Amino acid sequence: MKIVVASGKGGTGKSTVTANLGYSLSLIRDVAVVDCDVEEPNLHLFFPSASTDLPVTVTVPEIDSGRCTFCGECGKFCRYGALSVLKDTVLVFPELCHSCGGCTFVCPQGAIREIRRPIGFVRCSRPLPALNLISGFLREGEVQAPQVIHMAKLLAEGHPLILYDSSPGIACPVIETMEGSDVCILVTESTPFGLHDLRLAAEVAERLSLPSGVVINRSDGKDEMITEFCREHGLPVLMTIPFDREIAAVQNAGGLISRDLPGWSERFTDLFGKVSELAGVKV
Ligand code: SF4
Ligand code: SF4
Repeated sequence: MKIVVASGKGGTGKSTVTANLGYSLSLIRDVAVVDCDVEEPNLHLFFPSASTDLPVTVTVPEIDSGRCTFCGECGKFCRYGALSVLKDTVLVFPELCHSCGGCTFVCPQGAIREIRRPIGFVRCSRPLPALNLISGFLREGEVQAPQVIHMAKLLAEGHPLILYDSSPGIACPVIETMEGSDVCILVTESTPFGLHDLRLAAEVAERLSLPSGVVINRSDGKDEMITEFCREHGLPVLMTIPFDREIAAVQNAGGLISRDLPGWSERFTDLFGKVSELAGVKV
């Protein structure tokens, strides 16, 4: 089963929920946790451990100036503006290239070849006997987050239970992370911003036909706004984490409430049961 943890907005505690769920599950079964928030991965901070880094590369064009006649065909073809043909040179902007390979096909002189360019890496570790952690890291200034996410997901493929921690928002990296998942946990908080962004994230999950449920984080007990939205949209509230001094203290110290506070491991295991039910999977 593949579970994606998402939120329309940053700072809702999405990664905290993923880390606690991953930790709790690792006490009872093998689990792979994939940090797909490749622009700001942070799950490795919860699980420090020795790791191995694997590079993620993409292909970009390299121009053979000896063959190029500066005809301009490649520049006209590239809709991302990654090639600019001048009178006597072709400028390549690798960060803008989407590695479609089209320019190599349209070049009448065969003057373009593809070379590999690193854009990030995937870090693999086993911080607990039953927990595999796979974290994607996108290099600063790079835009091809989906490629790094794709590689991180690929490395977890075949594992019977996978948790994906998505980046916040609803852009391409979120879609890339959600695709292929069986069920989605939407993490939110009881604020107007929280509701606004929950609405957006829920729409994306619905478009991808992902059964979803909601975790309300930092609840002050006045969650009517969120629960009403959930009722209207058929989204079960799977768990509520209160706004609590003790919980905040553990989290601010980089700890896990499922490990450091009594009763929370069981609550996260219970969350897994509800999520499995939503996905129609027997556990
Ligand atoms: S299409 Fe080929 S020959 Fe024409 S400008 Fe581009 S690299 Fe040069
Ligand atoms: S590979 Fe595609 S995106 Fe990259 S420069 Fe060529 S045409 Fe543009």
